[in-house]
Amino acid sequence: MNIKMDKTFIFDYDDTLAEAHKYYEEVKDEFANWLIKKHKLKISFKEKILEHEVGIDKELVKRYGFSRIRFPTSFVLTYKEICKQIGREYDKKDLKEAYMIGDSVFDEKRYIEGGLMDGVAETLEFLVEKEDKLILLTKGDQEIQEMKIRVTNCKKWFGNEIYIVPDKKEKRIYKIVGDKYKNEIWMVGNSIKSDINPALRAGISAIYIPSKVWKYESDNNELPDNHNMIKFDRIIEIKDKYDSLV
Ligand SMILES: [Mg+2]
Repeated sequence: MNIKMDKTFIFDYDDTLAEAHKYYEEVKDEFANWLIKKHKLKISFKEKILEHEVGIDKELVKRYGFSRIRFPTSFVLTYKEICKQIGREYDKKDLKEAYMIGDSVFDEKRYIEGGLMDGVAETLEFLVEKEDKLILLTKGDQEIQEMKIRVTNCKKWFGNEIYIVPDKKEKRIYKIVGDKYKNEIWMVGNSIKSDINPALRAGISAIYIPSKVWKYESDNNELPDNHNMIKFDRIIEIKDKYDSLV
């Protein structure tokens, strides 16, 4: 007799199913170049600008969480700080422009063009065929995450099991998972801090697929030594090594 235990997979979105980090890096680069050109600074100033932005953006998580205004606001504050340091005046128009450069990271076109990462569609398709349960759990700005998920057609695999949350603490995982048998539940994500550790604390298993993360995620992110976690280099390994997921 062949008894199949259905598995549940809870997927992260940003940098697990679709790129995010690289767009932020592109926009930061654009901002630094704009500032340098505007104030005729040496190109060597770029590193300083970027360093300021990273620190300010991470600090702003306390005030704005993962809402849309945080990242562009970090550009405004960085702009003010740099102007102060080099002794230049700034006006409202400059600040507005800095904000708009930051906000352009949310331009729908990026996410339409970028689509899903390699192997994602094939992996999700495979899991649907296996009749496993798929859940999408992403933290961030409600509207922005909705837009990203919409333009990459994720509803096709996740149906109504799409959750956009302000954080991924284990109590949210409990709520979503309910009283299912925990050994058969896998959290899949690229962040040790936001995906892997909360999953392990909630008593479910985790598949860690590393990719670049920003400062907020990379602080205190040592890989836990836990037998409920495995590390894959690429998402397609979920399909290729499916039978080893027990
Ligand atoms: Mg992620």
